[in-house]
Amino acid sequence: MRGLKILDFGEDLRSAEECGCGFRHERTLKNILIGPIGEALEVLEDLGLKPPFAVFYDPLTRNIAGRLVEEKLGARGVLIESPTFREAEEKLGEAGGAKTILGVGGGTVIDAAKYAAYRLRSDFIAVPTAPSHDGMVSPIVSLFLEGRRKSILARSPRAAIIDLSILRSAPGDLIASGYGDILAKIVSIKDWQLGRDELGEPYCETAEKLILGSLNELIDCLVDKRSPLGCLEPLVRALVNSGAAMMLVESSRPASGSEHLISHYLDMALGRRLRHGIQCALGTLAMAAYHKLKNPNWWRGGRYDPEAIRSYVSMAGAPSDLREAGIPIEVMRRAIARAWRIRPKRYTILHKFKPDEEDAAEILKHAKLV
Ligand SMILES: [Zn+2]
Ligand SMILES: [Zn+2]
Repeated sequence: MRGLKILDFGEDLRSAEECGCGFRHERTLKNILIGPIGEALEVLEDLGLKPPFAVFYDPLTRNIAGRLVEEKLGARGVLIESPTFREAEEKLGEAGGAKTILGVGGGTVIDAAKYAAYRLRSDFIAVPTAPSHDGMVSPIVSLFLEGRRKSILARSPRAAIIDLSILRSAPGDLIASGYGDILAKIVSIKDWQLGRDELGEPYCETAEKLILGSLNELIDCLVDKRSPLGCLEPLVRALVNSGAAMMLVESSRPASGSEHLISHYLDMALGRRLRHGIQCALGTLAMAAYHKLKNPNWWRGGRYDPEAIRSYVSMAGAPSDLREAGIPIEVMRRAIARAWRIRPKRYTILHKFKPDEEDAAEILKHAKLV
């Protein structure tokens, strides 16, 4: 694709009053710029994004697009080496005075930049270099703090620059991870509905539509093209929409349920050896099987059947069983049995039925993960 497209994000979304969900429908994200990054940088000031600029990158993403941002915008460069809350905090001074901060990176650099912008009350622009997860436009910052992952509510970006030629060159496991993070919503939405139906938790149908609409579009593309690179645009749309759903309700609730808790457990148990979305995909296979066994309100019809999900995971180039992923069975059993404790108050199927390790072994069999 050539030339720059500027989309006004969410113009057609229902307002908080129309939705009636009780959430504020926060709308920080205004523009999605799709096209060559060089052209996108030229229009920022027309969109109300003011200098002085600062740009966060890591040694790799500096070469991919960070330097270009520095040169084109006269932006101050801030090098992030191993993004943690501590490092993001330490680098605030280097970005000080910036009215607009850009984050160029896959996952954690974006989060470090998002955090800095939030702390400095600057506008933030996400410039993803890989379609690896849905944090690019979400208001959540998830970084390590003293060895443990911690998530806080910050603010969504004002804009995102999506250069598909950059995203297309990302490593295959990062692209597979993006698919896994989107397929996870099949479970996270059902977990949220459990909270709504059983605990009276607030629920936003606009957020649900945003997520399911783009999830379905992505699944249709994948089934048609059978190639992860063939569906890059719907993948990015789904990642953006999922982040935007979190923005509307100012929480990761729509996009992160039991399958994400399993991924968080695996982060700790495996030392972050596997990509986020790849772990989420495995958690999704397990929890879809568990929902199907226990939750009469599980999806009807074949599209979200565990067997169908497994085929999408494979088409996306992600491992669809534990052996392929290199995860020891006992680690996954423990993950299923213990993950709910990571977030005791986020009600999911794991909180409702609290499986022990024997139950977990059954779930793994049903899910055909072993
Ligand atoms: Zn995720
Ligand atoms: Zn709503």
